[in-house]
Amino acid sequence: MMVIMHEGATDEQIAHVVARIEAVGASAHVSLGERVAVIGAIGDREELAGVPLEACAGVDRVVAILKPYKLVGREFHPHDTIVEVRGVKLGGDHFAVIAGPCSVETEEQVMEAARAVAAAGGSMLRGGAFKPRSSPYAFQGLGIEALKLLAAARDETGLPIVTELMDPRDLDDLLEYADVVQVGARNMQNFQLLAEVGRCPAPVLLKRGLAATIEEWLMAAEYIVKEGNTQVILCERGIRTFETATRNTLDISAVPVVRLACHLPVLVDPSHATGRPDLVLPLSLAAVAAGANGVLVEMHPNPEHALCDGPQSLSPVAFAEYAERVGELVRWTGKTVS
Ligand code: PEP
Ligand code: MN
Repeated sequence: MMVIMHEGATDEQIAHVVARIEAVGASAHVSLGERVAVIGAIGDREELAGVPLEACAGVDRVVAILKPYKLVGREFHPHDTIVEVRGVKLGGDHFAVIAGPCSVETEEQVMEAARAVAAAGGSMLRGGAFKPRSSPYAFQGLGIEALKLLAAARDETGLPIVTELMDPRDLDDLLEYADVVQVGARNMQNFQLLAEVGRCPAPVLLKRGLAATIEEWLMAAEYIVKEGNTQVILCERGIRTFETATRNTLDISAVPVVRLACHLPVLVDPSHATGRPDLVLPLSLAAVAAGANGVLVEMHPNPEHALCDGPQSLSPVAFAEYAERVGELVRWTGKTVS
């Protein structure tokens, strides 16, 4: 529930309400607005309902919150969260263009990709070291070797690195070489993995599950933030529907729905959403128009020979043109590309 204090409520009154909430084993999160303080109470609903908070001095009203996510919702945290990675900002008016290959294959490939991202004004480099593949016979990624190549690409270009974690046992290695931990669509409800990345010091990019509702997605983010890591970036990457014209169906309405309900930055991945390079630009423009805080795009120096997701990847030349067009619309909406 949410306790809204009167304008001018004193620090003592706020502290008293916090103490009453904590006395029943719940936690209290104070948000000091310009005019009023709001205290979010998180804990057992029944226990909290038994505390007569309306009767406490300084309390204006108590509002029951039906939404199950509290930490990622806007009620207690009305302002946009800005995630910062090595000086690159994401969220609010900061838009990020994150690009790179599906998976890291060779030193030459990742270096070429990184240079192309940097040359086009991209914000960060993506690349998979540990790949979630539907087939156990498909290329599974180069693991730690790939992380080292990504770190070398960062050393040369300055681009922060985004890469996926599938197994908590790889977290320390990943943190040694990369900057943002991606939790992929298939692991969106791997709750132990979520809790583990919730305790790590790096920002987490959380993709929406293939068949997850927006509420389930936000609850997954809640798992991470609950452990203390507030630096979470959401990414809509298409959901499974009956439609077969595209690999998945980009739920573009998820962008404004989440932006209204949640303070975390929201990205769109048009590559996995469509599986088609010719749809990457139009859907990225749609994402910008819908209020997204960035895009995550697959780009490969030689898509034809990619070991993973080549058919949906942009070439470096196509990416340069793409980044230009996306950048124009971003600026038109009043945002800046980080
Ligand atoms: C990826 O970004 O490389 C990836 C595997 O994406 P998703 O988890 O959305 O399928
Ligand atoms: Mn991919």
